[in-house]
Amino acid sequence: MTIGTAAKNTSEQQLVDVTVVGGGMVGAAIALALSQAGLQVALIEKVAPAEFEPDSAPDLRVSSINLASETWLTALGAWPLLQQMRLCPYQRLQAFEQPQSIVTFDATDIKRSHLGHIVENNLLQLALWQHFPANLTLFCPASVVALSQTSDSTLLTLDSGEQLESKLVIAADGGNSQLRKLAGIGTNGWQYQQACLVALVNTPYPQQDVTWQQFTPTGPKAFLPLPGQQGSVVWYEDAPRVKQLAALSPKQLTQALLKAFPAALGEVEVVSSSWFPLARMDANSYYAGRVVLAGDAAHTINPLAGQGVNLGFADAKLLTELIISAHQQQQDPGSVDLLNAYQRKRKPANLLMMSTMDGFYQLFGNDITPLRNLRQLALTVASRSSVLKTLVARYAVGSE
Ligand SMILES: Cc1cc2nc3c(=O)[nH]c(=O)nc-3n(C[C@H](O)[C@H](O)[C@H](O)COP(=O)(O)OP(=O)(O)OC[C@H]3O[C@@H](n4cnc5c(N)ncnc54)[C@H](O)[C@@H]3O)c2cc1C
Repeated sequence: MTIGTAAKNTSEQQLVDVTVVGGGMVGAAIALALSQAGLQVALIEKVAPAEFEPDSAPDLRVSSINLASETWLTALGAWPLLQQMRLCPYQRLQAFEQPQSIVTFDATDIKRSHLGHIVENNLLQLALWQHFPANLTLFCPASVVALSQTSDSTLLTLDSGEQLESKLVIAADGGNSQLRKLAGIGTNGWQYQQACLVALVNTPYPQQDVTWQQFTPTGPKAFLPLPGQQGSVVWYEDAPRVKQLAALSPKQLTQALLKAFPAALGEVEVVSSSWFPLARMDANSYYAGRVVLAGDAAHTINPLAGQGVNLGFADAKLLTELIISAHQQQQDPGSVDLLNAYQRKRKPANLLMMSTMDGFYQLFGNDITPLRNLRQLALTVASRSSVLKTLVARYAVGSE
């Protein structure tokens, strides 16, 4: 990768094919895919990912990465670099209300070795950055202060005063996307009543191959395995309660966890914790002029079933395939037809997943009697139907 310098006045402008704003997991994957295909790509990111230290505590922000995302990241060459750092495969996914009636979805049901991996967000981002080719121009630390567009190109002004002209800008700068606002794209959605506490814990068990979620009337409680004898615990409750929990010392939080979580958790010990508000957001349009949104900049989803970044990678894969194909045919990467084709496929798919998660949230997150009966029925049917179990397992890996 090349460290970027750009012109400070328009007469010196060089027109790049694509500028990606935001080098998180989604933006970095897009920048990598496009530069590998020979496009001229600039990437603007505020903060570079921290280097990997094998003895360091895992990042608190972890994600469950499904097989569909893994396959694409492998094709990009980043997955093997991540494997050399740290990640934890899981073979089984369990859901239950009462510990005596657990429904297990198993990778062997769909003849796979695993359903997915739990990865640290920072390490996945780092693996993508480590694989950037020489023709990618990186501006970091940098952010955008202004955007203007003509019918043929976009002009970004960076906080350094430098200016970058591109045929297309991809905004992958997260849920609070500044680029989305600069492009004038509105959003709709809401903040959920619930928030979630995430804790890194030491567990008494050897590395586990199962991720589980217990549904309770006050919200789900989940465990995600990490390499070695560690795991990530996710505790959903009303936001004020989550803030109270987040203010506890690790010792106090350990006690609270042991009291509230099912025995399957074991005698864990909290290492560190943080809390996250939960919001649903859907951009009104996925593009405006020559600015197109991907990942959390376009949509945020309840993390209940760990789908957010997997949807972002699905956006990234389709968008980069369309752009690479246009580039190979010497066509405009920012044409309305291309951006429309992207939006037509990805917006309904993302909305469907968001609404499915909201259905789960309603069904499993309260104690209204008819809904309690319905979810008990749903779990009983799931536990007895091998067809349904196979369907859920296929859904979990990212293929319908
Ligand atoms: C508690 C929790 C658990 C989750 N668990 C899962 C899970 O198990 N599986 C899953 O698939 N998803 C999960 N998610 C969702 C997942 O974390 C997000 O979908 C994912 O991080 C989005 O990636 P992104 O690259 O689109 O955006 P981000 O990760 O937000 O990255 C945006 C990047 O843009 C940079 N940036 C921001 N503004 C600017 C600017 N103005 N200029 C330059 N750079 C900028 C930021 O520094 C950052 O690097 C979870 C989310 C939460 C809150």
